[in-house]
Amino acid sequence: MIIDILYLVAAVCFIFALRGLSSPKSAFYGNCCGIAGIVLACIATYISLDISNIVLTLVAVAIGAGIGTYIAGNVSMTALPQLVAGFHSLVGLAAVLVAFAAYFAPGSFHLNEIYGICKSSLIEMGLGAAIGAVTFSGAMVAFFKLEGLYKGTLIPAYVNALLLSLLMCVLTYFVTTNSSTAFVVLAIFSFLFGITLIAPIGGADMPVIVSMLNSYSGWAATGIGFTLHSDLLIITGAIVGTSGAILSYIMCKSMNRSLLNVILANGQYGIAAESTDALAKSKSYKNGSAEDIAFLIKNAESVIIVPGYGMATSQAQHALKEMGDVLKKEGRKVRYAIHPVAGRMPGHMNVLLAEANVPYEDVFELDEINRDFASCDVAYVIGANDVTNPAAKYDSSSSIYGMQILEVEKAKTVVFLKRSMGAGYAGVDNELFYAPNTMMLLGDAKKTTEEVIKALQNI
Ligand code: NDP
Repeated sequence: MIIDILYLVAAVCFIFALRGLSSPKSAFYGNCCGIAGIVLACIATYISLDISNIVLTLVAVAIGAGIGTYIAGNVSMTALPQLVAGFHSLVGLAAVLVAFAAYFAPGSFHLNEIYGICKSSLIEMGLGAAIGAVTFSGAMVAFFKLEGLYKGTLIPAYVNALLLSLLMCVLTYFVTTNSSTAFVVLAIFSFLFGITLIAPIGGADMPVIVSMLNSYSGWAATGIGFTLHSDLLIITGAIVGTSGAILSYIMCKSMNRSLLNVILANGQYGIAAESTDALAKSKSYKNGSAEDIAFLIKNAESVIIVPGYGMATSQAQHALKEMGDVLKKEGRKVRYAIHPVAGRMPGHMNVLLAEANVPYEDVFELDEINRDFASCDVAYVIGANDVTNPAAKYDSSSSIYGMQILEVEKAKTVVFLKRSMGAGYAGVDNELFYAPNTMMLLGDAKKTTEEVIKALQNI
């Protein structure tokens, strides 16, 4: 009874953790709820199990916690996607190992050994092992891609369709015959399927894939939760499974693409970048200096800063905060506008701005700030491109058509800080670079922003 109550409280803590993590303001509280839930779950598990060597188990937990704390404390913000992919692979591996342990030692898991494992448990184990193996190998491939250690391989869609069909056949055979060979073959096929599914996907699409694998790892845990009769694992797995699926959906919707399009794009999305770069070079644009930009923003009543992927790669957030502070001291209204898919992972810009101690009240989501561009003097676009491209609104042939954008073109003046006239992630030229009210400041975003600060101080 006490154990059930502890598990229930832990599950409620996980729900509150997700609720808290949905906003930077409540993220700390959300994290605390998550930690409390995990601690309660561990205590309940220790009480419920007949562990003969508790010391050895605690040593294993301490080693794992130590490694986790070290990695989390030392990871750079830009390496978070690969860290998450690495952790998902461990969840997948754990699901496979538990499924194997339960199948080959059913007595230890209170499964009926005498009359054989029942069909429903075989389904749960089969699904848990299959989804777990796909998650493990898929997340490992995602990790290597995000780390830049593996570029990917083009694999025709029919190969994956064939492997998936084979997988379903082996799963059905395993459930109907309870063959241990089929169980091992199922795990091997699933492992291969994870590789062939993720290998062709373009590196820049990896954040969507990591979120999808997050969802898979949750469903694998749910499958195993049924096998182990663990309500907590079922609830937690379902929360992770659905939240990962919803996040993948939101990311795809914000990019105006379907998950199928991401999976089948074979890394071709945004491949037109080089040709648009050549086209861009032939058009004329206004090239400004740091002094020009400093003059513009110093004389502006209101400045809206739009950060994007380039701010993350150049790590310009601290210089940006300093520039914002200088302007605020001069009595200017400074706000930050965040597009839901700016950067390369959900919340990418929020995390970086929070790291630079930009106040939360100065940071606005797309829906909150979009109508204010019309009344703003300068839109300071730093390392962002696609999320400001007006082609998304009217060019039905464009790959970003339908994606909501930050309407910076409505500002009196738009300033773009980037290194070249080249395209962004989607490979689409941005007509705004050549507009009469646009000024380009070419160079690394951190370096150019530091130059703008220097110029601001000299005016
Ligand atoms: P973009 O990729 O559209 O543009 C980023 C721009 O930053 C580039 O044009 C690049 O231009 C510039 N840049 C790169 N490095 C630097 C640097 N060191 N200094 C200055 N500028 C630099 O990014 P956005 O943030 O505008 O849009 C995000 C894109 O990523 C969208 O298309 C979105 O769909 C996609 N995406 C987002 C995900 C998410 O979860 N956030 C997930 C998956 C994809 P140049 O090379 O000329 O410097």
